[in-house]
Amino acid sequence: MIKDIATPARTREILDKHGFSFKKSLGQNFLIDTNILHRIADHADITSETGVIEVGPGIGALTEQLAKRAKKVVAFEIDQRLLPILADTLSPYKNVSIIHEDILKADVRKVIEEEFADCKEIVVCANLPYYVTTPIIMKLLEDRLPLQRIVVMLQKEVADRIAASPSTKEYGSLSIAVQYYTEAKTVMSVPKTVFVPQPNVDSAVIRLERRNSPQVQVQNEDYFFQVVRGSFVQRRKTILNNLMQTLPDGKARKPLIEQALAEASVDPRRRGESLSIGEFAVLSEKLNELLAPE
Ligand code: SAM
Repeated sequence: MIKDIATPARTREILDKHGFSFKKSLGQNFLIDTNILHRIADHADITSETGVIEVGPGIGALTEQLAKRAKKVVAFEIDQRLLPILADTLSPYKNVSIIHEDILKADVRKVIEEEFADCKEIVVCANLPYYVTTPIIMKLLEDRLPLQRIVVMLQKEVADRIAASPSTKEYGSLSIAVQYYTEAKTVMSVPKTVFVPQPNVDSAVIRLERRNSPQVQVQNEDYFFQVVRGSFVQRRKTILNNLMQTLPDGKARKPLIEQALAEASVDPRRRGESLSIGEFAVLSEKLNELLAPE
């Protein structure tokens, strides 16, 4: 009978055996609660035909649960010191490959093509290193990888921002960027006590389900995201003021920005946080029409 990696006693035994010391700079907070790990893996809806990508396997606590459910697991780990430990802890699981690489530098598309050709769907499931949660999620989404869903643990505060609705204080350009590509939902809150060492912040698990097509249709995605980011630059300012400040030549072209707002039926005194993604899409189209260089 294989003992779970994630019990407090077994984790301590593994860490002691290999003389491992945590690196705070790499966001190393390992899970030591098997029940929580089961629940995270359950939320990822993995079947025996699923290929799973994990970011940061640590000593393999979550990897083990993924390997038991999936056809195949590929895990990216940046810390070389963990490789011999993973080779040891995951030796019973023949469907796991570890890639020693920074996920932000990795060619994930190529790995998918090479490793998951025989899988029906691909899912990302991870307990993310908290110092880079947003860049990792944005990389996975912006690269338009063929991922069915992303189920990850991250800081609760970031999860709240990602899943936020308009007119809340959490709603901002991150909510829009993620919800443009996926349906975002916080599925679990996780207490600090299930980690070693315990992080300073509360945690949550978020589930991002791929949309078949983006939530709104825009001609120029880069411009759409520029308008969105620009509208939140100073949250307390009106959308008109923020756009005048952030769009190229914005001040000189105030009348055109006002015209675009009017044509998009957006009151210029509103704040960015009150606009839905649909309203931002219409507005960015109008601005693009009126302000784009000839
Ligand atoms: N999955 C393990 C668990 O749940 O116990 C460990 C999670 S720990 C929060 C984050 C892991 O990500 C660590 O193993 C860390 O070394 C690794 N890591 C940090 N930055 C990384 C990066 N840029 N690319 C890949 N792995 C990274």
